[in-house]
Amino acid sequence: MQQCIVPAIMLANLEHHGLPGGATSAEVTRLAPSPTGALHLGNARTFLANWAMARRSGWRIVMRIEDLDTTRTKPGAAAEILSTLRWLGIDWDLPGRGGAYVQSHDLEPYRAAMRRLAAGGGAYPCALTRTQVEQAVSAPQEGAHDVPFSRHLRPEPREYDFDAVQGEAGPGGTNWRFAIPDRAPGVSFDAAFDDAIAGVQRLDLAQSVGDFVLWTKRDQPSYQLAVAVDDHRHGVTRVVRGDDLLDSAGRQLLLYRALGMGPEPSYTHLPLVLGADGRRLAKRHGDTRVESYRALGVPAEALVGLIAFWGGLVNERRAVGSTEFIDLFDLSRLPRTPVHFTPEDDQWLRSFAR
Ligand code: GLU
Repeated sequence: MQQCIVPAIMLANLEHHGLPGGATSAEVTRLAPSPTGALHLGNARTFLANWAMARRSGWRIVMRIEDLDTTRTKPGAAAEILSTLRWLGIDWDLPGRGGAYVQSHDLEPYRAAMRRLAAGGGAYPCALTRTQVEQAVSAPQEGAHDVPFSRHLRPEPREYDFDAVQGEAGPGGTNWRFAIPDRAPGVSFDAAFDDAIAGVQRLDLAQSVGDFVLWTKRDQPSYQLAVAVDDHRHGVTRVVRGDDLLDSAGRQLLLYRALGMGPEPSYTHLPLVLGADGRRLAKRHGDTRVESYRALGVPAEALVGLIAFWGGLVNERRAVGSTEFIDLFDLSRLPRTPVHFTPEDDQWLRSFAR
């Protein structure tokens, strides 16, 4: 297992706005980067918006590194992301001294959740391969990345001893899935919530995803399980993130309920930043990494200014400091449709290069 990837030398950033973060309410939010690569402008937009909402409203901010997907985690990325965020002017309150909770450091909270779910019949081991799951679906949905897990593949409900099954399954153990609870008669959705941007969501998870994976055969919690467990134990009441995770919120809420965890957080899912071609910001749009602009000598204020412009907070592109960004921030001005990163945006940023 990966050991501490967040250097202890990270500067204490607590003085920045007073501590804890000038928290004036009981609300807690989190910044939860995945160290799978460098932060790009889209990630920076989401973190800045989340941070500004928190600082305006006196919420405490938890920093959490989500590094459980070890096949995608890149060495050194976590420390670099924290340094980039700090350079942009972002700070946080917990765990304190500019550090971060790192999911891979302790899997015990996730195991404890699995023991509870398995013992209550809410989770079951599933050794089916991806191909077997796909073959069970007669007509895969057009364009779907993952086919839903067919209900009839679920074994008869029973209680399991998580550790015993994992032990018997050999190294790494086996996959475990969540048994989506049956709905009450007349109810057509599995989870519902009112997103601050996307509005009321009623999700038919049985149909769209089916029984989803909670634990993988690499002996690790899935993203869905880890996020629900951590948001609960960190006392998170406000989740702000990109709207690519809108449908994950339903799965996370189901886990909150199955584990008897509460209060459930409220959600704000921000429309993604896309390339000029309307596709999700990625390598094909050139080098949009924050660190690349930084290396060219582009000041943080220029990036923050562009993000303010995208958010409708300023009328034209101009440099904006992080403190001014907090003052300007207004969620109601944020476009309800995806933002496009254009060649003009890139040229404007590069005009600051030294
Ligand atoms: N770690 C996820 C990401 O970087 C965010 C998860 C979340 O906010 O729930 O995409």
